[in-house]
Amino acid sequence: MAEKKKSKAREDRVILSAKDGSIVDRDPGDKRPPSQRKSDAGKKRIFAFVLWALAIVAEIVAIWTFNNFSVLWPSLAAIIADAVLCIIAAQFWKQANRLDPPKGKFLKNQLGVIMALIAFLPLGYFLLKNSKDMPAGAKKIIAVVAALAFVLTMGMSIEYNPVSQADLDQAERMAIEYGGAAYWGKYSKSYHFDPDCRTLQNSSQIYEGTIEEAFELGKTDPCDFCAGGGESKSILENVLGDDAENPDTEEE
Ligand SMILES: [Zn+2]
Repeated sequence: MAEKKKSKAREDRVILSAKDGSIVDRDPGDKRPPSQRKSDAGKKRIFAFVLWALAIVAEIVAIWTFNNFSVLWPSLAAIIADAVLCIIAAQFWKQANRLDPPKGKFLKNQLGVIMALIAFLPLGYFLLKNSKDMPAGAKKIIAVVAALAFVLTMGMSIEYNPVSQADLDQAERMAIEYGGAAYWGKYSKSYHFDPDCRTLQNSSQIYEGTIEEAFELGKTDPCDFCAGGGESKSILENVLGDDAENPDTEEE
């Protein structure tokens, strides 16, 4: 009876394709060759630069409208556009770095932060410099909005968990050993190779895709139980050994 209950819980979970959100059979998705990944990453980087350029245009518009208009809203709208463009650009930049990791380059990983500084610090300088003849209330509003936009943009632009080529290579090697597919929960930073991993048991929806898709989505942390996080080799051997010898540990 107890056994039946457990297997029902497992069937309740849905595995979704990372590509289109459709429900998949457990069949690994097509693998993207490294050349394709590099070109995908290149496109994302170009897109990020275009968005950063637009963010700087928005910054200039914010300064110009602040100096020339007597109403605040055009400057506020331009500041918000500046932040939104920077944030989207940084996400593309981070995705590109996970698909095609830069070689241990701090600057390349954290370019989003540098661009956010470029897109906000001059704005702050000009707002402070020219705010003498603005009414106090207006000054306060624009200072608060600009500060919040800046903090949010910085927070969203930092690469908290830079990935190296070695991390990606290791993950790809292990993915091949496990049959090609990776699994992850929507909000987790971890990737898994076992869809029945104990840490996925509580998720009602899990996603399946290639390991590259997992990295692209920021799932760059190998699960400690099924993807060799921590001491990779000994755990990998244990897991493989366990699976081969004793596939059904919940039998009691
Ligand atoms: Zn796991």
